[in-house]
Amino acid sequence: MTVTARPVSDGLSARVGLGFDSHRFGPGRPLVLAGVRLPYHLGLEGHSDGDALTHAVIDALLGAAGAGNIGQWFPDDDPSYRGADSLGLLRRVREEVASRGWRPVNVDCVVVTDEPRLTPHLGDMRRRLAEALGLGEGAVEIKPKTAEGLGLAGEGRGLVALAVVLVSRTAG
Ligand code: MG
Repeated sequence: MTVTARPVSDGLSARVGLGFDSHRFGPGRPLVLAGVRLPYHLGLEGHSDGDALTHAVIDALLGAAGAGNIGQWFPDDDPSYRGADSLGLLRRVREEVASRGWRPVNVDCVVVTDEPRLTPHLGDMRRRLAEALGLGEGAVEIKPKTAEGLGLAGEGRGLVALAVVLVSRTAG
């Protein structure tokens, strides 16, 4: 689908976007974060591959470009996105954002969950996100945080991801 961009005529050469996502853990699904399959006995539920971190990055990138949100671009009632590779969706969003004259500069993310431990996988996760965004690995940061037993993430029922993305003008 096509989302009409809000006119971005503020003259700024850089903009920031914020993304948030949460998914429940469920059995019989792979746990995929930033396109990396992590060893865990539960996966993330969702219409696509359930990659909540990549979804947060997509929303941040769309927000920065004034290009709507992930639900508008990839509706969860559209069967063509069932089981979709979220990194592939991110690449498409990057192309869309580029067509509107913006390129990502850097990404900073937080993933909140008490389990599994993400630290051993952060390098792979950063590399996958950076590749999908056309960035160097140093332009992507992912910070794992525990929820101290509180709420959805702390009780092991799911996890939460947040991302901010800076974009700069490529033209005009
Ligand atoms: Mg999601």
